[in-house]
Amino acid sequence: MNIIFHALLGLLLARLLGIGSFPDALIGVLFSIFPDFDHIPYLEKALRTRRFGVESRSLLHELLGLIFVLFGSLAVNRVYPHLLPLTLSCGLSHFVVDFLTRPCRPLYPFSAKKVDLNLYPRGLKEMFVWDSVLTAVLALIYVTIAV
Ligand SMILES: [Zn+2]
Repeated sequence: MNIIFHALLGLLLARLLGIGSFPDALIGVLFSIFPDFDHIPYLEKALRTRRFGVESRSLLHELLGLIFVLFGSLAVNRVYPHLLPLTLSCGLSHFVVDFLTRPCRPLYPFSAKKVDLNLYPRGLKEMFVWDSVLTAVLALIYVTIAV
């Protein structure tokens, strides 16, 4: 899923968990988008080929990314214990959303087996349309709840 959707979901989760402080909510957003930082080295190739396949994900996105989210949450918990539910839910939501919308390699690097639930279109144009619609719907939900 696109990074805007992940960021909005982080903000929505912060709101639903009663996190009223904007800096605290930003920590949730950081955990929501952190796994996609590994796409940065692949951006040029992905834009040229117009594909963001499982190959654009590094070790940090799949199993190791999940471990980083868990340890990152524990590190945040030592300083800001009230943020543990936020960091865990935001970090885990990233993997759940990607798993539902994109092919993943959940056990990578231990297994390169690709898992595709086929719940989401695979054509670039259709994927862009669905990503845009779902992002807009999530933005509407967030604005409705935030007001
Ligand atoms: Zn991702």
